[in-house]
Amino acid sequence: KSFKLLRFPRSLVKGLVERGIRKPSPIQIQGFPLVLSGRDMIGIAFTGSGKTLVFILPIILFCIDEELKMPIGAGEGPIGLVVCPSRELAGQIYDEINFYSAQMHKHGGYPLLRTMLCIGGIDKREQLDGIKRGVHIIVATPGRLLDFLDRKKFDLELCRHLAFDEADRMIDTGFEEDVRSILDFFRHQRQTLLFSATMPKKILNFAMSALVKPVIVNV
Ligand code: AMP
Repeated sequence: KSFKLLRFPRSLVKGLVERGIRKPSPIQIQGFPLVLSGRDMIGIAFTGSGKTLVFILPIILFCIDEELKMPIGAGEGPIGLVVCPSRELAGQIYDEINFYSAQMHKHGGYPLLRTMLCIGGIDKREQLDGIKRGVHIIVATPGRLLDFLDRKKFDLELCRHLAFDEADRMIDTGFEEDVRSILDFFRHQRQTLLFSATMPKKILNFAMSALVKPVIVNV
């Protein structure tokens, strides 16, 4: 099993090698083809399983596809959205997305994706400045995201790929209502991915209401 068999662009494989990643992990072997095919997925996986790449790499590839077909215009909202429970985790995911996008730009000449970190505790104006030129991927915590959506700072009209990371922590920390409100901003069909270390009934119920015929991958 290798990334080449997945038909990842060579520039992306270079980025992976730069990170010391040469072979897909079990959740990646199952997850990449599934997510790239457009299916909804529930991943039951811990940190260390390689779960993050299962959602960020396909979302990057989907965004580049869209970008090449139809360059994103000023003020347009994201194609991909990642929602997670903490500012720290959001920052890490944001950095990873930027790293792989930069690698594909540098080694493959692909468009550099515009990304935005949408979390509490940092200046709102600074965050919104970035969005004026349009944004491909937003990585967010629920509170600040809902704040911006409620005040129509951007919308989810173009958003086709949604990922929840550490869903159990998100629902446990009382974000369930916020997360459900975020879903109400989607008016079109989307792909939804949900990752969680544990799958208590509450999370499974949420997943079953937010995802369409999801494939469950348990590693
Ligand atoms: P995660 O489980 O997504 O939090 O990833 C944990 C760490 O494993 C990160 O530092 C990744 O860069 C690294 N990682 C992800 N996939 C692989 C892989 N296939 N082989 C080796 N390391 C990986």
